[in-house]
Amino acid sequence: MPGAVVTVADGVHAYEQAPGGWCVNNAGIVVGTDAVLVVDTAATERRALALRDAVNALAPGPRRIVVSTHHHGDHTFGNHVFSGPHTLLVSHEAGPAELRRKGTALQSMWPHVEWGHTPTVLPALTVREGAAVHLGGITAELFHPGVAHTSDDLVVWLPEQRVLFAGDLVFSGAAPFVLMGSLAGSLAALARLRELDPLVVVGGHGPVGGPELLSFTEEYLRWVAALAGQGRADGLGPLETARRADEGPFADLLDRERLVGNLHRAYFEAAGGAPGIRIESAPAMREMVAFNGGRPLRCLA
Ligand SMILES: [Zn+2]
Repeated sequence: MPGAVVTVADGVHAYEQAPGGWCVNNAGIVVGTDAVLVVDTAATERRALALRDAVNALAPGPRRIVVSTHHHGDHTFGNHVFSGPHTLLVSHEAGPAELRRKGTALQSMWPHVEWGHTPTVLPALTVREGAAVHLGGITAELFHPGVAHTSDDLVVWLPEQRVLFAGDLVFSGAAPFVLMGSLAGSLAALARLRELDPLVVVGGHGPVGGPELLSFTEEYLRWVAALAGQGRADGLGPLETARRADEGPFADLLDRERLVGNLHRAYFEAAGGAPGIRIESAPAMREMVAFNGGRPLRCLA
């Protein structure tokens, strides 16, 4: 099985896929007496089927609610594997338009990956601000923390267990990525997540941790904001600023080339650009490859 079930509270499981870099995401499985909540699926059909096996082993009952923390394909390409008469697919209200707009375009970045059959499935229920899901014995709160990793982020919070499924607002052991969302919005969202006082934080990628994952992400994003300020003052673009940066505690993160994409968003916001406004990602992605010494971004999906 590509993933590992990590039980973090009674009936609450993270589904960790190592090592957590590009397109290798985490999911969640929350088992109530009436229904199971699945937080995200996976990037490839094979990985999604393995996740479904894990869900079936933990929760043989038919009623399933699948929540997407955002539209990115590594979290949604496997949604069709869970489709069926007893499954309700849920996203933020901005999710369906993003799913339709992007389709499977992400797959062309990594043609060597065996993506399998991944038709786009649109959610039946969308959430604007928040909603509560009553699973029987466990209640999950879904809420939109503002534009952070993307414009359609939705986090899953279990108040009784104090478990937070943060989606890609948190990367554990890998570089955060805010090119498609907002740096300022991510910092605001992280402050809100900290107020929840979680015991367990399941990020969208990488090992499960605690609130230190929120702190680490905040430190990283503040560092990016400072670099952007300095780079702009020095008249340098994002790529050159990234190349000159002392990466310090962030040097060993997976996918550290995301620094360039993050700087593109930081520059945009420093120049007055609003959170979540789409900026063309292709030039930033090309510069991330350049930062990586011309090597393609590493995807182990
Ligand atoms: Zn993402």
